[in-house]
Amino acid sequence: MRVAVVTVGDELLSGKTVNTNAAWLGQQLAERGVTVGRTTVVPDEISDIARVVNEYHAEFDAVIVTGGLGPTHDDKTIEAVAAAFGRDVVESEDAIAWLEEHGGYTRDDLTDGTGEVPEGSRVLPNHEGVAPGCVVESCYVLPGVPGEMKRMFEEVAEEFAGEQRYVRTVDAAEPESALLDRLAEVQEQFPVKVGSYPGEHVTVRFEGTEEELVEEAAAWFSERVESPTAE
Ligand code: ATP
Ligand code: MG
Repeated sequence: MRVAVVTVGDELLSGKTVNTNAAWLGQQLAERGVTVGRTTVVPDEISDIARVVNEYHAEFDAVIVTGGLGPTHDDKTIEAVAAAFGRDVVESEDAIAWLEEHGGYTRDDLTDGTGEVPEGSRVLPNHEGVAPGCVVESCYVLPGVPGEMKRMFEEVAEEFAGEQRYVRTVDAAEPESALLDRLAEVQEQFPVKVGSYPGEHVTVRFEGTEEELVEEAAAWFSERVESPTAE
């Protein structure tokens, strides 16, 4: 499964807010074996949001959008996602009923626009806040507030599944440049993903869907590099 993440907010572009939602979702999805093929930050503009949602919907198995979900004037995500799918924005009876029952609100307490979603969406209740999320086709619209977003993602996490992936790492006590020949060779010999991450030692990471192949690749490499001496 390949997924794109779209994080919405001027404050993310200006650096006032660090994009922790993208990092958290990336980790959650990777752990589930889902490939995140794109993470994009877009401003609070209907046309920008609609354009990337439309483009990624065509290209990916699912799109996750976070931020700009509330009913205030700077929250444009619902309108933009509706536009991307050619749907109207409608007040969801399910969303209002949920807020009345679980949120302790009456319909009159709610700011105008609360509970509005693209027509025909599946509504996702917001256990930590007010604005509901929704699923339109394979586009998941979640809040920007990190605590609300995480809780809502849990509701749908099971829908994000990939192949189980296996990872092994080997530390090498040689400069990365000196390892290039063996990195190329291990990559040639084994159909696994190879990455190298320089730090105190170079950590070489092997990843694949077949555990045995990942282990063989790591063992092959390990035998051919200098290992850091344990102190
Ligand atoms: P609300 O209904 O409270 O307006 P919202 O879903 O509309 O929530 P935003 O208005 O976009 O979300 O953002 C709400 C808060 O969450 C802001 O403080 C914002 O900085 C923070 N936030 C939004 N997106 C992210 C993100 N990608 N990473 C971390 N924090 C974020
Ligand atoms: Mg908002």
